[in-house]
Amino acid sequence: MLTVVAMVTTRRLQEHVPPPVRPTPLRPALQAVLFDMDGTLVETEQFWGEAMFALARRLGGRMSDEARERTVGTTVRTSMGILYADLGIRRSDEDLRADARWVEDEAARLMADGVTWRPGARELIAAVRDAGLATALVTTTPRRVADLVLARIGEIAPGIPSFDITVCGDEVPARKPDPAPYRQAMAALGVDAAQCVVVEDSQAGVSAGLAAGTAVLAVPALQPVEPAPGLVLRDSLTGVGVQTLAGVLAGRSAVGGRG
Ligand SMILES: [Mg+2]
Repeated sequence: MLTVVAMVTTRRLQEHVPPPVRPTPLRPALQAVLFDMDGTLVETEQFWGEAMFALARRLGGRMSDEARERTVGTTVRTSMGILYADLGIRRSDEDLRADARWVEDEAARLMADGVTWRPGARELIAAVRDAGLATALVTTTPRRVADLVLARIGEIAPGIPSFDITVCGDEVPARKPDPAPYRQAMAALGVDAAQCVVVEDSQAGVSAGLAAGTAVLAVPALQPVEPAPGLVLRDSLTGVGVQTLAGVLAGRSAVGGRG
């Protein structure tokens, strides 16, 4: 008799047990990877440098290596200001626009002869795409030059574009280190900053990514990058995969960064 009561009680308890509650993930899953272009994916910074040194010679001077380092990752217009200060000259706005255009044309001419991948970059993009993650290219370089570079490096695989979207420097309201380019890319992809990792090489790009609220993996080459919460520094992209990026995102969540 006691056994029967116990069985009935047990059945009733089972019938009223609420369905199991799925645990809420503590960390957002990685959904998208946003790549800088120059110096991060491709060896193009050297061409921008050559073009800047060539302009300095045209203007009758020589740009210092220190000034060149400070132009990395900046807009062409910002680079002009650094160059003029370094040479101790003043130029009109009209001259600045002409100089900027000349540097873009010269850099594009040099890039047309050949652009190469940075170590591990091509493999990382392929791994990110294989994992089904969204991809964006977010560059300060103007569209006409960026398209030339993209054409030179080709596709990851025939018929498969390398990036879901591309955002160029002349298509945004403000440029890196402003977060606007990365915010524009995330809006276009329909992803939240907490789901993204930015891959960069310059201080301006790292600052833009962190200000946009994303985790950032940086591979500094021509310019040192300051350590910061949410930022992971590596020597190169060689051996970096989707798990590495997921770890970078988890680290950003751990420091509570959402921006
Ligand atoms: Mg860069």
